[in-house]
Amino acid sequence: MNCRHNDELEHFVTEAKKVTVKGKVASYIPALAEQSGDDLSVAVYYTDGTCLSAGDVKEVFTLQSISKVLALALVLMEHGPEKVFHFVGKEPTGDPFNSIIKLETVNPGKPLNPMINAGALVVTSMMKGSTSSERIGRLLEFVRALANNRSISVCKKVAESEFQTSMVNRAMCYYMKEHGIFQAEVEDVMDLYTKQCAIEMNSLDLAKIGCVFALNGKHPETGEQLIPKDIARICKTFMVTCGMYNASGEFAIKIGIPAKSGVSGGIMGLVPYSFGIGIFGPALDEKGNSIAGIRLLELLSENYSLSIF
Ligand code: GLU
Repeated sequence: MNCRHNDELEHFVTEAKKVTVKGKVASYIPALAEQSGDDLSVAVYYTDGTCLSAGDVKEVFTLQSISKVLALALVLMEHGPEKVFHFVGKEPTGDPFNSIIKLETVNPGKPLNPMINAGALVVTSMMKGSTSSERIGRLLEFVRALANNRSISVCKKVAESEFQTSMVNRAMCYYMKEHGIFQAEVEDVMDLYTKQCAIEMNSLDLAKIGCVFALNGKHPETGEQLIPKDIARICKTFMVTCGMYNASGEFAIKIGIPAKSGVSGGIMGLVPYSFGIGIFGPALDEKGNSIAGIRLLELLSENYSLSIF
């Protein structure tokens, strides 16, 4: 894809990079600890197909929690909102993404929303397909269509690393299974979920996917309606209410755009009908969001009045 380097954007990247020293690369998934903390790149993909970038936008990273939005879109398309929201709620939690506490204290077994790990695991367990490889194949095809890039695939090393270590996610799965929230085998769900989180792309691909959401599910290049409008709207709303972990409220006030982050340091954002943004900055703040990514979005939002509110 042709994406032009932009000096103004580079200026903001240089400024935002200064905070990377205060952040830390995620290490609870061992393979992620190998990422370099001082990286920061951004791509902005406009609805007319033009694209601006700064930093090393060719660098690939795994989606981690950003994949939760894409899996949700696919599963909503497969089953419809009524069935999906029978098993997962629509409310923010105010707790960290991997917290287990509200599974017991609120509505036993039913996770509060699909952006926290418990909710995302339920969504993943609902994905259609008779085998795990058929399911990940379907999801990959969907993600490739969203980014209009056939070469997107799963990073086996990161998937394997998370699969070997993800005991809290397993615990949540068993707890929810006990409460009848899903019937699937826990190890199958974990296999699919860790592969889903390890889907790998660069910030250009991510910006383009953001742009599909900015256009209510329509692809900016192909014109194809890849996600029905009402489902794109649901996904964007979750991005606003729970997309930035338990910092979503502050993010909405300070920056004010639908966005979803992942612990690899990626952020996918969008401004409705204007553009999608893809950011990669692996050093994270204490909530798990890219520290320089947030700073960069703050600068962009202030300078270009991006808030949708
Ligand atoms: N694969 C990660 C996990 O389940 C995703 C977390 C995230 O990016 O927030 O722990």
